[in-house]
Amino acid sequence: MSPLTVAARYASIAVPIPLRQLLTYRIPDDWTEVPPAGARVRVPLGSRQVVATVVESDAAAPEAGLSVKPIAEHLSGDPMLPPDLLELTRFVSDYYLCSWGEAIETALPPQLPPVRPPRRVVAADANIEVPSRAGRQLRLLERLRSTAEGLAWDDLDTADRRAATALAERGAARVIEAPVEAGRIEAPAIEAGTGPTPTDAQRQALDELEPAIDSRTFDTFLLFGATGSGKTEVYLRAAQRALDAGRAVIYLVPEIGLTPLLLNKISRRFPGRVVVLHSGLAPRERLQAWHRLRRGEVSFVVGTRSAIFAPVADLGLVIVDEEQDPSYKQDEAPRYNGRDIAVVRAKSAAAVVLMGSATPALETFRHAKTGRYTMLRLGDRIADRPLPTVVCVDMRTTYQDSGEVQVLSPELVDELRNCLAAGNQALVLRNRRGWSVALLCPKCGERVGCPRCSVTLTWHRSTSRLRCHTCAFETKLPDACSRCGADELKLIGEGSERVEALLAEALPGARIARMDRDTIRRRGAHAALLEKFDRGEIDVLVGTQMIAKGHDFHRVTVVGVLSADQPLGLPDFRAGERTFQLLTQVAGRAGRGERPGRVVVQAFDPEHPVIQLAARQDYERFYDREIRYRSTLRYPPVAALVELIVRDADELRCRTWARTLADAVRRQEPGRLIIAGPGPAPIERARNLWRQQILVRTAGRRRLVHAVDRALIEIEGEIPRRAIQVDVDPLSVL
Ligand SMILES: [Zn+2]
Ligand SMILES: [Zn+2]
Repeated sequence: MSPLTVAARYASIAVPIPLRQLLTYRIPDDWTEVPPAGARVRVPLGSRQVVATVVESDAAAPEAGLSVKPIAEHLSGDPMLPPDLLELTRFVSDYYLCSWGEAIETALPPQLPPVRPPRRVVAADANIEVPSRAGRQLRLLERLRSTAEGLAWDDLDTADRRAATALAERGAARVIEAPVEAGRIEAPAIEAGTGPTPTDAQRQALDELEPAIDSRTFDTFLLFGATGSGKTEVYLRAAQRALDAGRAVIYLVPEIGLTPLLLNKISRRFPGRVVVLHSGLAPRERLQAWHRLRRGEVSFVVGTRSAIFAPVADLGLVIVDEEQDPSYKQDEAPRYNGRDIAVVRAKSAAAVVLMGSATPALETFRHAKTGRYTMLRLGDRIADRPLPTVVCVDMRTTYQDSGEVQVLSPELVDELRNCLAAGNQALVLRNRRGWSVALLCPKCGERVGCPRCSVTLTWHRSTSRLRCHTCAFETKLPDACSRCGADELKLIGEGSERVEALLAEALPGARIARMDRDTIRRRGAHAALLEKFDRGEIDVLVGTQMIAKGHDFHRVTVVGVLSADQPLGLPDFRAGERTFQLLTQVAGRAGRGERPGRVVVQAFDPEHPVIQLAARQDYERFYDREIRYRSTLRYPPVAALVELIVRDADELRCRTWARTLADAVRRQEPGRLIIAGPGPAPIERARNLWRQQILVRTAGRRRLVHAVDRALIEIEGEIPRRAIQVDVDPLSVL
């Protein structure tokens, strides 16, 4: 023991649990090296130990009388967040009201069993005397001195490791680390492609973008252009510009848009210079990609939302393709939106954000109209290809003509037959999985529901199971109604599985395949299906919204949309926006090649303005109409919105807690917040938990977030934090 009194040192640590406060730990007195901010450490938490992150290594001493535990271990071999990303995760935690520790976990690659670089113990200074009572140390030292390369740490037993540590402290031995050799991907020996010559519209957009990229100042652009107008080429050229200037590029794509087709295109242009980062990678692959970026071996990353936290230095450009896509928003804590974090990160890095869409989110288009973002209009399709012709089919007429509710209208079947006869391909959208929508007792009206959720069960014929799409509960088809005993239960409504079967009947001989979450469960199945379609081995691809996303198929001439107006009935203020976006996008898949496209939209209310505007692909008229409605009702983007959901297994307690929380929010900014609820959430019960919803709105986003934060602090101790789900800027309030 040193006779000198060493002043105790403390560190502030973010732990990966839903706890907003930071915790203080003592830095062990015998540590010569203080773990810096961003370092990963192992700390005791309750009865266990967790891996956490140092956010301040020179923290103030805790109040007198408070006992503070020491840090157990400094994990020096683990990924460490650079300062800018540490700051970004703090923003995420403050803005989305989650814990800093949770935000950090999102930014880092997944935790793996400790990846320690292999360590060796070697003899050091031969002049150091080791006392003769330290027998084990002497014996170990003798072994070390007999070999030049020393001994592998992993080969030593616990007692020898302790002896090695003691020898190292005396200076008689050293523990050295061999660096980790992460897998390197060899650059294929092909020349970087240059891509097609930009069109005039693309050139004009680039003429605004390139100086912005060169000037090293923050700016946000919206590249607004019809489907098929050539946005990708602008992204790639802007990326080239940033890379040429020696700066890094992050290219974000929606979950389902990250296809081998897109990756091939990018890697052909930038051979050996691109790394892919998304949650579908195996943990070790993600970790390797992370380290390659951190070491600066590559500076172009393509990935889904979490790639916004890629550890690149000197970020120059962030591309956000299909910026309106809901998959940019994480649906668990931290509920961040990768697109919005892109703007925050770019701002601090003096970088450029380039968002692109044919159907921008209302938020984004509003910023572009008010000048906060710079609008780049790309206009219509390249090579003067016409937008597809859209035909709306009134399903009420079809019903009157045939006397029954039809799934496929004669108009659509005709179009499909002609399309296939001409050797072309078709897409059919039915945005609902399974065979039926519900199982109904025609006698008493009972719909068979999930025992754990307040939703009806969907029949899946392929697995012969009724399934809950909320909690994945499964059961077999009941023989009789549980309420009245009637034994003639009826499957009503049609999902994508049934549409596939009906198409097979209507188009004998056609090669039909289905793409929805049920058929792409297996890893790689999604890519395989898309490639098969691209090669022309499938004639008609049926599916949910995932068939609408970004794919560039040149032989698709017909797109069919079933029940186009159905989502308009959802109790969500974004129902119109989502419907418009989906219809425009799926319609945009038609006629991207030489042959013009036709779209058949089936609806029971084809005159609905949203359907009509989508049929004309008239985004700006849609925007004007929708923004008036949002202004009247004070919904985003005119106001900021936070959704609070209180969940508990006990219905009464859930309601009581929700009232307590709503009251606490109400106390914060009297008269300034619009508070709806508490009331039952649209899905009132899910996974055996009752759900109460509170929607809080006001004009100023900061004011709103602060008010909710203060309310949450006030009710701490009264309501467990796990019972409250906070969603800042929710994309859906269903
Ligand atoms: Zn019944
Ligand atoms: Zn369920």
